[in-house]
Amino acid sequence: MLTINLDGKVINIMGINFKILVINKLFDENNKVLGFSDYANSLIKLEDNQDDQNKLQTLVHEITHIILWNTGYDDLNANEQLIVAFGNVLYQVLKDNDLIEIINHK
Ligand SMILES: [Zn+2]
Repeated sequence: MLTINLDGKVINIMGINFKILVINKLFDENNKVLGFSDYANSLIKLEDNQDDQNKLQTLVHEITHIILWNTGYDDLNANEQLIVAFGNVLYQVLKDNDLIEIINHK
């Protein structure tokens, strides 16, 4: 089922290298979550018990959190409904239009 191994990968978001950790039974405080961003330690944690498309959607969701946090929009970053909507639409647009390949085309 797993075709993409995200565990240990590092992604640069606005000059900060965030390491992805794929974790079985991920909790944020006492709540079970699919993803969690640890801003202070530059970590993106993803629940392992989800398929690839949900892992990637969760990753885009966490990237959205990090962008708003790192640009000082703490009030928007606390608006989970906004993050879910924006992140899920961004994931869909990136995926369905092969935008990464287009952007990287030389
Ligand atoms: Zn969130």
